[in-house]
Amino acid sequence: MDLFSLWRPILEISIIWWIIYVLFRLVQGTRAVQVLMGLILFLLVFEFANLLGLQSIKWLIERLLAIGVIALLIIFQPELRRGLARLGQNAMLSSMAKEGGILDEIVNACVLLSEKKIGALIAIQRDLGLRNYVESGVSLDSEVSSDLLLTLFHPQSLLHDGGVIIIENRVASCGSLFPLTLNTNVSRALGTRHRAAIGITEETDAVCIVVSEETGGISVSINGKLTRNLDGEALKRVMRNLIKPKVRKLSFIDLIKGFRNER
Ligand code: ATP
Ligand code: MG
Repeated sequence: MDLFSLWRPILEISIIWWIIYVLFRLVQGTRAVQVLMGLILFLLVFEFANLLGLQSIKWLIERLLAIGVIALLIIFQPELRRGLARLGQNAMLSSMAKEGGILDEIVNACVLLSEKKIGALIAIQRDLGLRNYVESGVSLDSEVSSDLLLTLFHPQSLLHDGGVIIIENRVASCGSLFPLTLNTNVSRALGTRHRAAIGITEETDAVCIVVSEETGGISVSINGKLTRNLDGEALKRVMRNLIKPKVRKLSFIDLIKGFRNER
């Protein structure tokens, strides 16, 4: 066998590894891990019984697997429902920009925080995932409301330090740590909160709003550039432009994302 004929098995093994990797990344940290492990165990026992010709064990497992499909549907009913609801929604982000949508909630919260000079840091995911940063904080999955944002940033709140992350119209975390910008051109007057807002928008395509505790000033960062001293109206205008309603094609991936969101 010459070296050249090796490409096929190498390709096959790589693809299988990749599939296993993606599968594990997908279910990592969710209830699906235990189920996946259980399933693998069942299949191993099945193969074992097959090899040794243990007919009744084989028969039993075959029956159980058949029932298992129904059990899986029941166990993952919330995730499936979430995924299917997503399939039915035409535009994920459009409800964000709509009048009375979550954008209003965010803007209202920022205006109130600014008036009270309460520091805040809110990153909103666009195309690139922010899940990595969710993990550095306290993971949540709540509806976005200005009351919730005010509560989270309240100085007496145990979780007020760090940033809030909004993913697909839900508050995904609070107290998250964002990377600080290393840009030396950033004004010395800006402290770590503003540097974190700039940093996360350098690393990702997210939009990040900062409310300064010192001045009450509201700023928005995008692509590593900070626009400072916006009032409520200006903030709303800027955000509307940045978070354009997108008509996204929804796909099987969205169904799978229903599972991811459960984390
Ligand atoms: P302000 O104008 O509100 O004072 P600032 O830019 O001067 O903002 P600091 O005074 O350093 O910044 O703000 C400190 C707060 O910023 C911390 O208490 C924390 O809540 C937040 N913060 C600091 N670093 C990070 C980070 N890497 N990720 C998220 N939040 C951070
Ligand atoms: Mg400061």
